[in-house]
Amino acid sequence: MKHEDPSRLQPAQPTDTSVALASRLRSNTRGEVMFDDASRGRYATDASIYQVMPVGVFVPTDDADVRTAIQIARELKVPVLPRGAGTSQCGQTVGACLVIDGSKHLRNVLALDVQRRTARVQPGLVLDHLNAQLKRHGLWFPVDVSTSAQATLGGMAGNNSCGSRSIAYGNMVHNVIGAQLRLADDAVLHAGPVGGLSGRAAEAAQFVRTLADAHRAEIEAHWPRVMRRVGGYNLDIFHPQSERPYTANGNVNLTHLFIGAEGTLGFTEALDLRLSPLPRAKVLGVVNFASFHRAMDSAQHIVKLGPTAVELVDRTMIELARANPAFKPVIESALIGAPEAILLVEFSGEERDALLRTLHRLIELMADLGLPGSVVEMPDEAPQKALWEVRKAGLNIMMSLKGDGKPVSFIEDCAVPLQHLAEYTAALTDVFARHGTRGTWYAHASVGTLHVRPILDMRRDGAAKMRAIAEEASLLVRKFKGAYSGEHGDGLCRGEWIRWQFGPRLDDAFRAIKRHIDPENLFCPNRIVDPPKMDDASLFRFAPSYRTIELKPVFDWSAWNVQNDPTTETIGPPGSGGDSTAGFGKAVEMCNNNGHCRKFDAGTMCPSYRVTRDEQHLTRGRANTLRLALSGQLGADALTGAAVRDALDLCVGCKGCKRDCPTGVDMARMKFEVQAQRRQRLGATLKDRLIAHLPDYAPWASRAPWLFNLRNRSRTLARALQRLTGLSAQRRLPVWRRDTFTRRADRLGLVSRDALLAAHAAGSKAAVLWTDTFNDHFEPEVALAAVQVLQAAGYAVHLARGANGRVPCCGRTHLAAGDIDAARAKARALLHTLQPLAERGIPIVGLEPSCLLTLRDEYLVMGLGEAADTVAAQALLFEEFIVREARAGRFAPRWRAAVQPMLVHGHCHQKAFGLMDGVQAALRLIPGAQVSMIESSCCGMAGSFGYEAAHHEVSMRMAEQALLPAVRAAKDALIVADGTSCRHQIADGASIAAKHAAQVLAAHLSE
Ligand SMILES: Cc1cc2nc3c(=O)[nH]c(=O)nc-3n(C[C@H](O)[C@H](O)[C@H](O)COP(=O)(O)OP(=O)(O)OC[C@H]3O[C@@H](n4cnc5c(N)ncnc54)[C@H](O)[C@@H]3O)c2cc1C
Ligand code: SF4
Ligand code: SF4
Repeated sequence: MKHEDPSRLQPAQPTDTSVALASRLRSNTRGEVMFDDASRGRYATDASIYQVMPVGVFVPTDDADVRTAIQIARELKVPVLPRGAGTSQCGQTVGACLVIDGSKHLRNVLALDVQRRTARVQPGLVLDHLNAQLKRHGLWFPVDVSTSAQATLGGMAGNNSCGSRSIAYGNMVHNVIGAQLRLADDAVLHAGPVGGLSGRAAEAAQFVRTLADAHRAEIEAHWPRVMRRVGGYNLDIFHPQSERPYTANGNVNLTHLFIGAEGTLGFTEALDLRLSPLPRAKVLGVVNFASFHRAMDSAQHIVKLGPTAVELVDRTMIELARANPAFKPVIESALIGAPEAILLVEFSGEERDALLRTLHRLIELMADLGLPGSVVEMPDEAPQKALWEVRKAGLNIMMSLKGDGKPVSFIEDCAVPLQHLAEYTAALTDVFARHGTRGTWYAHASVGTLHVRPILDMRRDGAAKMRAIAEEASLLVRKFKGAYSGEHGDGLCRGEWIRWQFGPRLDDAFRAIKRHIDPENLFCPNRIVDPPKMDDASLFRFAPSYRTIELKPVFDWSAWNVQNDPTTETIGPPGSGGDSTAGFGKAVEMCNNNGHCRKFDAGTMCPSYRVTRDEQHLTRGRANTLRLALSGQLGADALTGAAVRDALDLCVGCKGCKRDCPTGVDMARMKFEVQAQRRQRLGATLKDRLIAHLPDYAPWASRAPWLFNLRNRSRTLARALQRLTGLSAQRRLPVWRRDTFTRRADRLGLVSRDALLAAHAAGSKAAVLWTDTFNDHFEPEVALAAVQVLQAAGYAVHLARGANGRVPCCGRTHLAAGDIDAARAKARALLHTLQPLAERGIPIVGLEPSCLLTLRDEYLVMGLGEAADTVAAQALLFEEFIVREARAGRFAPRWRAAVQPMLVHGHCHQKAFGLMDGVQAALRLIPGAQVSMIESSCCGMAGSFGYEAAHHEVSMRMAEQALLPAVRAAKDALIVADGTSCRHQIADGASIAAKHAAQVLAAHLSE
C-alpha cells in the first residue's frame, strides 16, 4: 500500500475516505468513533514538539473491535496508529492515520501466575495499576518509568521503555517474554522463544534470522554496545551486541523484535511479562558533589558496588525543586551545603543489614575518591519515596518555564559508556553554550543516559539550532561509541538518525523487516523506516507560522505573557511576551502534553477523567482544545463554540490541576475565562441566572422558606423545574432557612466595627468573621460554631457587613456563570467592607473554602487593584487561623477529649492551596483526636455542577470513586468536610451528616 507521507498529510476537511471509514466503523464495531476536528486535534499531539492531525480516532471496546477496525482501514487504505497514554516524547503517536486508542478499555490482566512470576496483560493497562494488583503477591513489573502512573504496557513495549532501575532489571525488552500481535492481513502472530514458534511467528523468525546472518558483520561493526539503545528494530536478537543480553539463557525470543517497534509492525493485543519479586528492603545514599564533572566521573566507580539505581539531579533541578513548596523540604533533606549535583544511589535486596553495609561501602568509596562526608544516608522508606518523587518529577519541573523558549526533547537520551560520561556532558554543555542556550541534566547516570533538553524557541530560530546541536551531539556520540537513541524511542525526532547510527545496509535490513511483516505498510508508515526530517516545520506544534487570535481576556493573564532568555536565565516582565491574547494563550500553551493528568492515584486531578477515561474530559484534552481554538485551528469563534463548551462541560473547576499539573495549568480559571467570553457573545441561560443570582435572592428566600422549599417536597414541581432550568429533579436542593446566621447574629455577643478596631489597637485578640451566602442561609450552625470557638478562645469577633447591613457576597456564583461585571461589582463591595480592616492587619476568617479562597485567587486577576492584595493577605480559612494562633500561643480554649475517630474529606480548593495539613492540625488540637484523611478527588458536587440534570450521573460516579465508599466503610467515625457541596453530596450519597471542622471543634469545647 502506497501512502502519502502521514507526517505531512494534515487533513483539515473530511474526505470521502474518512467519511466512509467513520461510517463503517460506526456500523461494524462497538467502539467510539471520533472524526470531528476537536477530537482529532486532541490526538494530534503527544509529549513531543510535533502535531499531525489524524484521519480519525477509534476507541475499541475489545479485540474484536480492533480487528474489525484494522480490516476496514486496510480496505480503505488508511494507515493505522496504535496509541496508549500518548506520553511519547518523540512524536511516535502522531500521524495522519486512524489512531486506535487502547487505553480506555483494553486494560485487563488476562492471567497471572504467581508461582512462575508471569502475567499476561492487555496493552492499555497502566503500569502502576498492574503493580498495585501485583503488590499483594510480593511481585512487581520492574520497568519503572517516570510516567508509571500513565504509561500503558502496550506503549512501554512500543517504545522499549526503560526505568530508573534498569541497571538492575533491564529495559522492556528484557522483561517481556511473549506477545500477541494483530497483523495488517488479519493474522495473529504469537511471538515467544523461537524454538516453540509456529505459523506467522515461525515464518517471521526464519526471515529475521536469515537477514541477521546476512548482516552479521554489519551488526557487529555498527551496533552500539551500550545497554541503552532503542533505535531501529532489534535485528541483533540473533547476534546480541548489548552488554546486557536479551535473555538470561542466551536463547532467542522473537518477542524482542517487536519491543521498540513503535507500533510499526502490528497492533499488540497481549503481552506476556516476566515479574520480579518486590525487594524487601531498600537503602539510599545521596552523594553531594561540588562539581558536576566529579559527579559524572564518579558514576563509573559507584556502579561497581551493585546499586539498583544511580540517578542524577543537577543544580538547576535542585533549585527548581527548592522553589516548589511541596518539594523544598524533601530536596533539602538530601543536601549538604549547596552542591552542583547529587547522585541518588539506591541499593535494594532481601536483607536490610547487608544493604546498610553496602551503603557504608559507598561512604568509604566516596572518601577514597576524595569526597569524605559527601553522603546523606537515607535508610528509611518514607524519605526515600519522597525524594524519588522529586526525581521523577524532574522533567515536569523543568517544563514549567514560562515564555516561548522551552526545553526541547531531541537529543535527550543519547547513551554513552560510563567512562566517557564526564567528558561527554562537558562537551555537550559547550555545544549548548555555542548555540546560545543551556540544558539541565538529570536521570540515569548508572547506564550513561543523561536527560538534557536545551531551551529552544521553535516559533523563531529553534529548528535551525535544533539541527545544529543534533549534528554536533551526534559527533560526540560517535566519538564515544554510544547510542543516539537511548530511551525515549525514535518517532519523528530521531527517525532520520537511524540510518546515521546503523549505516545504509542495516537501514535497508530494517526496511526489509517492515516489508516482510507489514507488506502493505499499514502500520505507522514513515516511522523507523523512511522517516521524515526531524526539523520539518510542517510537523511542529508551534511552527514559525503559529499564530493566535486577537482576544481581550477578562482576567489578567499577563504573568504568562513573557519571554525567557536561556543564556541569562531571565524572564521578562509580565505583559512583555507579545501575545495577541494577552497571556491567556500562553497560559494554555503551558500544557506540554506530558499526560500527568491521566493519573488515578493521590491528588485531585482530574476527577472527570477518572470517571470517563476520555481524552476530551482530561486537563490535557481541554488545554489542547483551547490551544486549537485560540490558534484558529478549530475555525472562527471556536473559543465560544460547541467544541470548547463540550470539552469544558465536565470540568468541575476543582483546581486539582492548578496544584497537581507540573506546569500549573489552571483549567478552573480558564473555564471561567471561557464562560465569560461565551456570555459576552451568547448571553446567559436561565440556569446561569438562577445560580448566579442566588446570593441576591437569598434574603427573600429566607423570608418565605416554605415557598422556596416547596420544590423539594413535590416531585412534579421538581420535574417541571428540571425542564425549565436544567436542575436535576433527582437532587434535593439546599433547604432555605428562616433562622439565618445573620438574623441570629445580634444575639451572639459579636462586637461592632469600632469595638473590633479598638480591641485590635489595644493588642487584644480580634477577628473578622466573613460568612458566605451558603453557610449563612443553609447551614447557620457552621457559622454559629465558628463564633463559639473563637469566643471561647477569647476573641472579639466582628461580623463583616456592608452599608445595607447585609454580609457582602464574594461574587463567585457570577464568575461561574461568566458574568464578570457582576462578579467585579460584588467583589468591589466586599473589598470596600473588608479593606479598612485588612489594612490594620486584622484577620478575616471565612468558612466556605471556595468562597474564601476566591479572595486569594481570582480576585488577584480581576483588575481590582491594591485592595484585593491587601484583603488577600489577611484572608484565612477558619482552621488556618486557628492553627496559626495556636502556634503563636494565642488560642487555647478548654477542650473535651474526642471519643470518635475523625475522617476528613478535603474540599478541592483547600487541597489546591495545600491547606489540608492545617485542617488536620486544627482538629488535632482536640485531645485524643484521631484524624485521618480520605484519599479522594473531587466529591462530584462542585458548586452547582452536581445539581445539574446533565451532570447528575457523572457527579455520583465521581463521588463513588473513593469518597462515598470510604465514608460508608467508616461506620463509627465522624466525617468532616468543610465544603457545603461536599457535605451535601455525602448526605445524598451515603445518608451521613458530615460536619464542618468548626462544628467539630465547637462540639469539643469544654462547658
Ligand atoms: C515526563 C515524562 C517522563 C518520561 N519518563 C520516561 C522514563 O523514565 N523512561 C522511559 O522509557 N520513557 C519515559 N517517558 C516516555 C514515555 O512516557 C514512555 O515511553 C511510555 O512508556 C509510553 O507509554 P504510553 O502509554 O504513553 O505510550 P504511547 O506514547 O501511547 O505509545 C508509545 C508507542 O507504542 C505504540 N503502541 C501503543 N500501544 C500499542 C499497541 N497496542 N500495539 C502496538 N503499538 C502500540 C505507539 O504507536 C507508540 O509508538 C517519559 C515521558 C514523559 C512525558
Ligand atoms: S494539563 Fe498539565 S498534567 Fe496534563 S498534560 Fe498538560 S501539562 Fe501535563
Ligand atoms: S479543574 Fe479539576 S476537573 Fe477541571 S481540568 Fe482541572 S483537575 Fe480536571
